[in-house]
Amino acid sequence: MTPDAPHPQPIIKGADWVLTDDHGPGAPTGIYGVECMVCEARSPLFDDDAKPVAVWTVQHTAQHPEHDLFLARAEKHWRVVRRRHEDENPPPPQRPVLAFLDRAFGPAFVGLMCLFTALTGYFISLN
Ligand SMILES: [Zn+2]
Repeated sequence: MTPDAPHPQPIIKGADWVLTDDHGPGAPTGIYGVECMVCEARSPLFDDDAKPVAVWTVQHTAQHPEHDLFLARAEKHWRVVRRRHEDENPPPPQRPVLAFLDRAFGPAFVGLMCLFTALTGYFISLN
């Protein structure tokens, strides 16, 4: 990571450590591979692009028509860094209550909205 790069969004923060996706030099955004569930043949791994893996999968089934179930993997690097407390003194928010609610309930709220959206679709489909 270059010194001027913005800090990646933390996945989780502990008291002293922060876990983030690693976007450092040479770090792929994704590593893709697939494994045949019939014969355990594995595709090569490809960085940043799932399409070559998809091509390998179709070719494997073309060569072995009964091999039609695969375990696809998409992996990425994580990095744990020491938490830098000096970076964490932002100016006070304009609307502290809203900011607090966003911090406290943001992810849960988004999750609930997804659930409500899914349930709404379900109930509409029942009528
Ligand atoms: Zn196979």
